[in-house]
Amino acid sequence: MKISMVDLRGQYQRIKPEIDQAIQSVLDSTAFIKGPQVAVFEKSLSDFHDGAFAVTCGNGTDALQIAMMALDFKPGDEVILPVFTYVATAEVIALLGLKPVFVDVCEDTFNIDVSQVESKITSKTVAIVPVHLFGQCADMEPLLKVASDRNLHIIEDYAQAFDAKYTFSDGRVMKAGTMGAIGCTSFFPSKNLGCYGDGGALITGNKALAEKIKVIANHGQRVKYYHELVGVNSRLDTIQAAILDVKIKHVESYEQSRQKVADYYDKELSGIEFAQTPFRAGNSTHVFHQYTLKLKDVDREKFRAYLDSNKIPTMIYYPLPLHLQEAYKKQDRQAFPISEELSKSVVSIPIHTEMDEEQLSYICTKIKEYED
Ligand SMILES: *Cc1c(COP(=O)(O)O)cnc(C)c1O
Repeated sequence: MKISMVDLRGQYQRIKPEIDQAIQSVLDSTAFIKGPQVAVFEKSLSDFHDGAFAVTCGNGTDALQIAMMALDFKPGDEVILPVFTYVATAEVIALLGLKPVFVDVCEDTFNIDVSQVESKITSKTVAIVPVHLFGQCADMEPLLKVASDRNLHIIEDYAQAFDAKYTFSDGRVMKAGTMGAIGCTSFFPSKNLGCYGDGGALITGNKALAEKIKVIANHGQRVKYYHELVGVNSRLDTIQAAILDVKIKHVESYEQSRQKVADYYDKELSGIEFAQTPFRAGNSTHVFHQYTLKLKDVDREKFRAYLDSNKIPTMIYYPLPLHLQEAYKKQDRQAFPISEELSKSVVSIPIHTEMDEEQLSYICTKIKEYED
């Protein structure tokens, strides 16, 4: 029995004929750049997001950068983001000469603490970037209210929460990525909808904005060799689009598989004293990009070494919050106690679409047997 954090090989094997045919058709056409499969996948992506406009690009980090370029943020503008997240968000803010303004996250959801946002807004603030971490939506309703009251844009980073659904207090349900001005996602292989290389996309309900995004992602040109805006070169490969258009049809079944794993872990591990299982917010579904335990009073490195000796891999997402990273620490000298504590106590255990009961039972048994 081999246990891995993700099993892309097993997942591929189950849909091999469909995938191979999709790749072969691109090879036969040799339309490697902007082949017809890109537009086909963009249509599928739009349908998946209730008809919102979808523009693909080279990766999720580019998607965030293009979003900020499309909204005309200028050097010196401030963008608010959570400090406990992947670096991509802060990186593009810095690259564009904007100022990242950090906020802490909630202890339970690990998502942006909306109650701390208001006090960070200044006359220079232009946007808030909630990251729907590990597969669960940030608390969007109050965040959207703050943004609309203060005339700010919301850019959702939903790279880890593809197809997560948020329920508003009036009962409306919206998908991650469709609630703010622009939603940015990634198709990195291990993401819930992943391709076989790099890929990303932007979603927006605004047609003019979608067109501008498309122009920016394509060297700022609408007509070839006529550049109306400063753009970037960020394209989804045709082969990746063809793969994604096959995989998006399976994404709901992938989600169910992850859900089953999470339910199994919840049931087996919720009683253990030294770790807390993931909190499930009442207003969002959880698509379990990661299944992350919060350890209490145990040495994380010892726990990981024990699991490793039993051939159970683990990962730490994320070992250092943004404000303590060498590249970003000058931006904000404040302390963010919850993120600092989480970065020391979280540990993610295997969750993917190919896990079977035997693996799950083994992992849970080993975890339950652990003594610090
Ligand atoms: C994966 C990820 C990204 C970036 O995606 P890439 O395609 O690797 O550039 C951005 N934000 C979050 C939260 C991610 O998990």
